[in-house]
Amino acid sequence: MKTYTDLNTPARLLLGAGPSTVHPRVLKAMSHPLVGHLDPQFLVVMNEVQELLRYVFETENQLTIPVSGTGSASMEASICNFIEPGDEIIIGVNGYFSERLCDMAERYGGVVRRLDKPWGDVFSREEIEAELKKKPAKILALVHAETSTGAMQPIDGMGELAHQYGALFLIDCVTSLGGVPVKMDERGVDIAYSGTQKCLSCPPGLGPLSIGERAREVLHHRKSKVKNWYLDLTLVEHYWGDTRTYHHTAPISMNFGLREALRLVQEEGLENRFRRHQENAEILWAGLEEIGITPLVPLAHRLPSLTTVRVPEGVNEAEIRKQLLQEYNIEIAGGLGALAGKVWRIGLMGYSSRKENICTLLGALRNLLS
Ligand SMILES: *Cc1c(COP(=O)(O)O)cnc(C)c1O
Repeated sequence: MKTYTDLNTPARLLLGAGPSTVHPRVLKAMSHPLVGHLDPQFLVVMNEVQELLRYVFETENQLTIPVSGTGSASMEASICNFIEPGDEIIIGVNGYFSERLCDMAERYGGVVRRLDKPWGDVFSREEIEAELKKKPAKILALVHAETSTGAMQPIDGMGELAHQYGALFLIDCVTSLGGVPVKMDERGVDIAYSGTQKCLSCPPGLGPLSIGERAREVLHHRKSKVKNWYLDLTLVEHYWGDTRTYHHTAPISMNFGLREALRLVQEEGLENRFRRHQENAEILWAGLEEIGITPLVPLAHRLPSLTTVRVPEGVNEAEIRKQLLQEYNIEIAGGLGALAGKVWRIGLMGYSSRKENICTLLGALRNLLS
């Protein structure tokens, strides 16, 4: 019989594209003894998680919940609940995750109107408006923080624009929530989804999702049943809402963890947290330039939580990442799709965004590249 050792994975410094390093307080909260998923004490936890999520999304939306599943589950919930066969959706495609949105929308019978741009670019108001003008669309979808490229899509005014043409405004804020201002209500976002393992520094496993009243109306007036039972918000909203009708068993320990992660965000304060992410990113960018490594994305729309850099000429991309992991215990990410082999992706998300981590990484890179 094969025997198995105690779990002995190392304590890595996670500076890749997610997951980020989990705060010790979150790990501790997750080891609390379990209560039942309908225990009155767990219902209190559920309420608090929803309140705290509204705080980080900066929204009043009643339907603000952690979807059971990773970011892709909340992404799929954002699509399957609002797209019915034949519905038109405009998707700004400039990276890996917008491609995934197209794939999901098509699977639910959506008619995808792609707006294509090279990876790393972002869309202007004019480009979006030109497409909205052509003919009505049900949804305009943009990726706020594109983790595959390190570009931050400006979304100010985009909600208003979408509404002007009768569309709902949907954003992917997986790599921005808790690290970069999302300001859901102020920006007129109707549907926003995220994940726990990026700037919230919780393990992967829940997908924060917030649905505005305009979108909720659309949901309640669907012609057909949502084609995905597990993610059907018309059912899930009763579990998280007033009646607490059992739908599925919430991942209780994950919710303990998320509650603590969100409490940490609140303790720090959103503005302080955004400033920390921005300042630390600037320190990283300056340090990288010093050792001859240049970011891919221009400063004007560069994301602070994830930096994509060009691999210097003559350097073996995968080999350096392997050495970083084996010799320095640091994880960074390689490129996806067209950028594979050409870039590294360095995440400074949540608890990972600290000066000592930047020094450690820069020191290691300096040694490995010299
Ligand atoms: C990580 C990520 C996702 C998917 O989240 P998973 O937790 O991997 O399912 C979606 N969109 C963006 C922008 C991401 O960075």
